[in-house]
Amino acid sequence: MNSRLHVVYTDSASLELIRPILAELPQPPKNARITFKPNLVVAKPSSSGATTDPTLVACIVQYLQEAGYRDIRIAEGSWVGERNTNHAYRICGYEEISRKYNVPLIDLKRDKARKVEVDGLEIEVCEEILTTDFLINMPVLKAHCQTRITCALKNLKGCIPDREKRRFHTLGLHRPIAALGSTIKSGWVIVDGIIGDLTFEEGGTPIRMDKIIIGTDPVLVDAYAIQLMGYELQDVPYVTMAAHLGAGSADLSKAEIIEHGQKDTEYIPQQPANRIAERYNSLIDQRQACSSCYASLIYALWRYEQLHGRLPAGVSLAIGQGFKGKDTGYSVAPTANARQTYGIGSCTARVCSHYVRGCPPSAKEVLTQLEDWLK
Ligand code: SF4
Repeated sequence: MNSRLHVVYTDSASLELIRPILAELPQPPKNARITFKPNLVVAKPSSSGATTDPTLVACIVQYLQEAGYRDIRIAEGSWVGERNTNHAYRICGYEEISRKYNVPLIDLKRDKARKVEVDGLEIEVCEEILTTDFLINMPVLKAHCQTRITCALKNLKGCIPDREKRRFHTLGLHRPIAALGSTIKSGWVIVDGIIGDLTFEEGGTPIRMDKIIIGTDPVLVDAYAIQLMGYELQDVPYVTMAAHLGAGSADLSKAEIIEHGQKDTEYIPQQPANRIAERYNSLIDQRQACSSCYASLIYALWRYEQLHGRLPAGVSLAIGQGFKGKDTGYSVAPTANARQTYGIGSCTARVCSHYVRGCPPSAKEVLTQLEDWLK
């Protein structure tokens, strides 16, 4: 595990960008049995914001097969509301990957499980996960109604039997998720942040971020995801708990974060429409905003509304490359009743006297700045 994170700005059409990054990571041992663990919590396509994009999984399978690895499989156990995971494999496009690359799909709901003890807790974990040589943890970057976010550590909850998933809820989720994260070792963590979900892990409020996060430390990945979604580390207790159990480091100040790719994939409203994001449109003057920047603003407004019970009043928010290089005389269309226009991202530096620095800023940076301006 190292403290390096790669953040790749890309959509699913340009995934070849990640191949040189994969080559830099510690490679699986020769002849290793490699298991992919995507997030297929429900049987909905990745465009819903709920599940891991199959083209991202296919890209990595292809990379590994070209590197000579032969024993590769995909394993997942959908949420307890599904009788089996095959439904999700079909709807989410994984049967095609299985056929094309000759990779078996394993339903962890049907797998045997074994008890492991960690931090005074006995946890049942599926045999496939305990016996694999190299796990590739592929979560989706999205919100969760109980734990606030779900990313690398919580994705591992799909590696336990349904009865254990139910028991995790009786244990308050955070402690068992942390314990599970310290038991299951992820070789690579590759986060699908192409389309995630603003509010729930089951999808339905998709938000396009065009971002893939690659690392080897699931705790560090989650610490990075937390601030991308506008939260503080203490808002998601299982991440620090997992760090204390030795699962990784939550200290982003010691991390090396390397950005790759073009940030300028323009924001495109999602299908199905994200009604929450649409509600925010009346505040926003958006001109060719990059999707990752726009997603940060939407996450920040969502958090602001949760914290204050209302949206920011009397403001208009300018965002996008359309403001880049313009001067202060350039007109920013004030939205109805706006007294002040604030800029989001460094593109607005010359247009707005007050703007959030960063390219793109994280949701946490946008939220912190908005709260400071509006107090
Ligand atoms: S600051 Fe401008 S270029 Fe940078 S991510 Fe935002 S919109 Fe894109």
